[in-house]
Amino acid sequence: MSTLPPVGPALPRHVTLSGSRQRAERDHAVLSTTTAAALLASTVLLAAPGSASAQTVQPTTPGSSAFTARQAAVPNPGLVQVAGPSPYKLPDDAASAQAFVAVAPNLLPAAAPAATPEPEPEPTPAPAAAPGWSAPVPDAPTSNPYGVADSEYAAGYHTGVDFAVDPGTPVLAVGDATVVSARWDGAYGKEVVLRLTDGHFAQYAHLSALSVSRGDHVPAGERVGLSGNTGNSTGPHLHFEIRTSNRYGAVINPVAYLSERGVTAF
Ligand SMILES: [Zn+2]
Repeated sequence: MSTLPPVGPALPRHVTLSGSRQRAERDHAVLSTTTAAALLASTVLLAAPGSASAQTVQPTTPGSSAFTARQAAVPNPGLVQVAGPSPYKLPDDAASAQAFVAVAPNLLPAAAPAATPEPEPEPTPAPAAAPGWSAPVPDAPTSNPYGVADSEYAAGYHTGVDFAVDPGTPVLAVGDATVVSARWDGAYGKEVVLRLTDGHFAQYAHLSALSVSRGDHVPAGERVGLSGNTGNSTGPHLHFEIRTSNRYGAVINPVAYLSERGVTAF
């Protein structure tokens, strides 16, 4: 009869079950120590800034994907680990990051309307001739004003204004007009009568020459004759009237009439 070794775990005879439990507990303690060392190593890794594999960044660094709000709750804002360097490169000028923001066209501010070119300024009218109107003999001195009592006239007063000008001085249409008459007219000598576009009539008397004919159209400033001393005249001058109708005595102050239309060359 042989004696067989006992079947079962080959345990040292001196190791008891209780001793095995104690060693397992000791091994667990060693494992715990190892885990603690690894965690400690991780902490050291976290605390090593500048490493390619472990980078410490502030959570509010622009462009960080870990935190997008400055007010995000961070247990330890100084120790945040990211996997590696960010593939997104921040521009040197943080403000220029707006250049990479895509905005839908319907969200863009309305474009300012295209600036319309400034219209060309109106040309400054010549002082002697307002647009559309002119003095009959610009800047000529007045020798006898309108309205002065004068028994020589049937109306009892001077029905026009006399301008002292040398014979042969051009006399001008005071406005756009049609020539009513250009002829000899008794005491007025050689005379031109214009019908102005506003219905008034302009009379030029004592002329030495006629430059227009009945029916002609003349613009403001156009020469209608030359001054003279024809008819009942005591000296070279232009006798000029403005009439409300084409008849003797239906007169108004010619200087006032033209002044109201911007003519100043008196
Ligand atoms: Zn006169």
